[in-house]
Amino acid sequence: MPTCLIIGECMVELAPLTHDSLRKQFAGDTFNTAVYLKRCLPTCEVNYFTAVGTDLLSREMTERFAEEGINTQYVARSQSKTVGMYLVNTDASGERSFSYWRNDSAARQMLTTAALPDVYFDIVYVSGITVAILDEPQREILISGLKRYQQAGAKIVFDPNYRPQLWSGIEQAREWTKRLYSLCDIAFPGGDDHRELYGHQSEQEVFTFLQGLGVREIVLKRGAESVEIAQHNAHFSVAVKPVAEVVDTTSAGDAFIGGYLAKTLAGEDCCVAAGFGARVAGIVIGAKGAIIERDYFFQRLN
Ligand code: ADP
Repeated sequence: MPTCLIIGECMVELAPLTHDSLRKQFAGDTFNTAVYLKRCLPTCEVNYFTAVGTDLLSREMTERFAEEGINTQYVARSQSKTVGMYLVNTDASGERSFSYWRNDSAARQMLTTAALPDVYFDIVYVSGITVAILDEPQREILISGLKRYQQAGAKIVFDPNYRPQLWSGIEQAREWTKRLYSLCDIAFPGGDDHRELYGHQSEQEVFTFLQGLGVREIVLKRGAESVEIAQHNAHFSVAVKPVAEVVDTTSAGDAFIGGYLAKTLAGEDCCVAAGFGARVAGIVIGAKGAIIERDYFFQRLN
């Protein structure tokens, strides 16, 4: 059975349901990826490492993980903190923005609340948000942990997911993103992130930069157009079937990675993985929300 460890933060999502009521759900980049990976490869043991509190909301969140078949054995419980939260705001023109209450969340202390499991995993996945929410000592703990997993044979997978407001400055973000790239095996760089972080103006610049850091599998998503992959010294271009009616692009990238990792863990090559990742993302953007309903998802996947 393939195994995967996903490290990150899940939050409570409050989104407008009617003009005076909100709907409560749970979401967050790494959690979204964990859900889609598990849905696409049910035989995979998907473990989520994070920290929550001991209150009702934290228990509900952990139950939600389990409901999706995610292993909650490595969910640490903080005695003094609770989970983070965000509110989806929609203005008169339908444009969405987000307000966050996550500065003091349990997940920000995950690596002082519990140690990373001393177990073998085939893949260990982290995002730039995982790194950004941790303080410097915990970032060092994360890096040493990832190195240990890699030495034991795991593939380290990284999505930089740059969120400027989570970093104390761009220099710090540049430095840590580079450190994570330098040790990862598979990277999912975003063109926008690289423009903002490193001033890269072209995809070629992104590939050259990451190849210089030793990344062996670079998967660059180009929205509805294609996925460009550099694996060792070979380059592959995988076509994406455009979705005619895009409803909500929230978590498209997370879903893509979930699908990509499902095929990678099933032993398929990077082109099959990218084609499938794009199919999964295409389904997810056809419905509302970061995590779309299970029945709707499986009807379209199968
Ligand atoms: P991110 O969310 O990381 O910025 P993208 O916007 O590139 O990433 O979207 C992720 C994936 O979602 C793409 O690789 C593609 O497979 C899929 N996708 C996004 N927009 C469309 C679209 N209009 N039609 C079909 N697929 C899309």
